[in-house]
Amino acid sequence: MGLCMEPQLTGLIVWPDDVHYDAARKEWNTLFNKFPLVIVFAQDTEDVVNAVRWARYWNIPIRTRSGRHSYEGLSAVDGGIVIDVSQMKQVNVDGRHGVATVQTGTKNIDLYHILGAKGLVVPAGVCPTTGIAGVTLGGGHSMLTRPWGLTLDHLLELEMVDANGCVLQASANRHADLFWAYRGSGGGNFGICTSFCFRARRIDTVGFAEISWNMTDLETVLRTWQSYTFPGADERLTPTLFITSGLKSVQSNFAGDQSPDSFPVVMQGVFLGPATELCHLLQPLLRTGSPRKITIEELPWLEVVDRLSATQPTTPSPFKSTDCFIYDQLPETAINTIRRFIDDPPTSSVTVLFHGLGGAVARVPSHATAYFHRQAWSKIAIWSTWDTPDGAPPGIRWEEEFRKAILPYTWGVYVNSPNLAIKNWPMAYYGDNFEQLTRVKAKYDPENVFHFPQSIPPV
Ligand SMILES: Cc1cc2nc3c(=O)[nH]c(=O)nc-3n(C[C@H](O)[C@H](O)[C@H](O)COP(=O)(O)OP(=O)(O)OC[C@H]3O[C@@H](n4cnc5c(N)ncnc54)[C@H](O)[C@@H]3O)c2cc1C
Repeated sequence: MGLCMEPQLTGLIVWPDDVHYDAARKEWNTLFNKFPLVIVFAQDTEDVVNAVRWARYWNIPIRTRSGRHSYEGLSAVDGGIVIDVSQMKQVNVDGRHGVATVQTGTKNIDLYHILGAKGLVVPAGVCPTTGIAGVTLGGGHSMLTRPWGLTLDHLLELEMVDANGCVLQASANRHADLFWAYRGSGGGNFGICTSFCFRARRIDTVGFAEISWNMTDLETVLRTWQSYTFPGADERLTPTLFITSGLKSVQSNFAGDQSPDSFPVVMQGVFLGPATELCHLLQPLLRTGSPRKITIEELPWLEVVDRLSATQPTTPSPFKSTDCFIYDQLPETAINTIRRFIDDPPTSSVTVLFHGLGGAVARVPSHATAYFHRQAWSKIAIWSTWDTPDGAPPGIRWEEEFRKAILPYTWGVYVNSPNLAIKNWPMAYYGDNFEQLTRVKAKYDPENVFHFPQSIPPV
């Protein structure tokens, strides 16, 4: 690199003797407990540049962090530098052209509210607290995914600090290979993104549905729910289905308020259209089993955002989770497998979440961006959490055995739910796009400065 002068760290710097070190080092998944050498909270792109140059000068491992939600704690590292962009959260909106320039430390919920106040949206995941960096670089499944596609489908340009501490802009016209790769490779692979430019869409009111059942209706509900994700199903509706069992004492689980009248099987849906049409569309589901609670309304978009956020885990907790893609109708044997695992939770609390995909996601070819699994109809997320440390081994085992048991009915894994137990991860995350990713890596980070378990190697 030819650096002679010792580079200096800038920004808000937290060393291990700082009173804020413990809070600064913690990941959202508290299963991981890492002790970085230093954490830099960058205030602007220059701080990121300085941190990369400093780390290169001292030959110190680098990890990048935005919302801290990495499933495998990959945004922190023992003895290395964590370059954290979470205090870079400026959002500038050009309402006339429908373009939003977003610093990469912005949280999903803040982006929804800032844009929503102007009648705009960039579809960016359901969870309020995830960072826009991780979500976008791996895909971005939201409640608007079927009509409008992934978060990364809205990306027009990104700004990135590379391994030499140089600032690059990538778009369809500049560094197009990097732009292709960072739309689906997952975060951390090529450099540190500091800003995204997104195409925003107009939004006003939307149809919102929430329907709950008892566990006895699981099979019949799942059979009907799937039909809303089949090719040809109305793309204006993006449906999810939560199935929760285990200890009610575990608060940091999906399935909302955990109040006594909450039910273990819950469908949620967002529909780009009036409630009357949504009600008509949902008739098959409403006739399925014995629904216990039904809400079908037309609501302002931001109210829907807040209702959905309330059903997400709110506090950091230990968990094990993987999101696997479903490309076909689940046969009865798969549904029986799901029932078997749901009926046998370990000492922890468990959730199975289905999220409808397809629609606009599938209209983009699988090789057009690095996000490969465009033809999947939905994904199944298997999630276990626990409230005491001795819950970890059975919780992790349950998740792993469940994932393996449904392998015959799924294909591929969402890179934003990395799982270090997956041996053939290049194929699982990237399919045929992996080779091209390794070529882009060789061009932009030939010395593999940005490396971590399951990161893309240079060809
Ligand atoms: C409770 C929960 C709910 C979720 N819900 C959804 C959902 O609805 N839809 C969905 O699509 N996904 C969802 N996810 C998955 C989410 O997309 C991933 O966990 C994502 O990677 C989180 O990004 P982050 O910035 O918060 O995490 P981080 O841990 O900060 O980063 C994740 C990865 O990106 C890298 N990275 C971070 N910042 C940068 C940067 N500035 N430049 C380059 N690389 C960077 C990190 O090094 C790491 O490898 C959920 C996750 C959780 C835990």
